[in-house]
Amino acid sequence: MAQRGEIESHLAALLAVDRFKDYGPNGLQVEGRAGVGRLVSGVTASLALIEAAVADGADAILVHHGLFWRGQDGRVTGWLRQRLALLLAHDINLYAYHLPLDAHAELGNNAQLGLRLGLQADARFGEQDLGFIGAAAGFADAGALTERVALALGRAPLLLPGDGRPLRRVAWCSGGAQGYFEAAIAAGADAFITGEISEPQAHIARETGVAFLACGHHATERYGAPAVGQHLARQFGLQHRFIEIDNPA
Ligand SMILES: [Zn+2]
Repeated sequence: MAQRGEIESHLAALLAVDRFKDYGPNGLQVEGRAGVGRLVSGVTASLALIEAAVADGADAILVHHGLFWRGQDGRVTGWLRQRLALLLAHDINLYAYHLPLDAHAELGNNAQLGLRLGLQADARFGEQDLGFIGAAAGFADAGALTERVALALGRAPLLLPGDGRPLRRVAWCSGGAQGYFEAAIAAGADAFITGEISEPQAHIARETGVAFLACGHHATERYGAPAVGQHLARQFGLQHRFIEIDNPA
């Protein structure tokens, strides 16, 4: 059992929350009961996740994508009202960590994704050093890397194969990091792994010869929250369960 505030200060230090400029508040987003014994982790604070956490008897939910983002107009209506109402009705705490959870060197989305793909970063790149880059570790080419990703994530990535060069360096950044492609190329990547692709990256892959793998926003960000949840469970003696709410996007 932990106190609500203990968890927040522990995570603020662990994830170096103050170091990041982010699109929403990192930390306790919705205040629930004071004591936390049962924790659910998930990728996104969707209604389905909150419902599953209620059914699980959770005192707190830990997610990567919280409820509040820059650009919202401040009204509590529609989907936001529904999700908030359910949290408040059941007195459940909501903790959300966005970029700090991508970046953490062992528990973060990028580190955990690398672990599953057999990739180890020896450098960082891009805005706020969120991108990871390391040796290609035995992947002959982008095709071999794509097969490994499909196996590890359970879905086939969208591959822009580049020029078919042998891979020496692979860069990756989870989620919607397609805008990091050029920084990855500048950092020396022969292939770049992220969640999503937009129209310009297909041309850049063709013109630079660097392979681009779009592997799913959700699929690449499934591993940080449960890793932090497990860490909290050990640290504070909590019961913890990761709840997967599948998302093809
Ligand atoms: Zn994301």
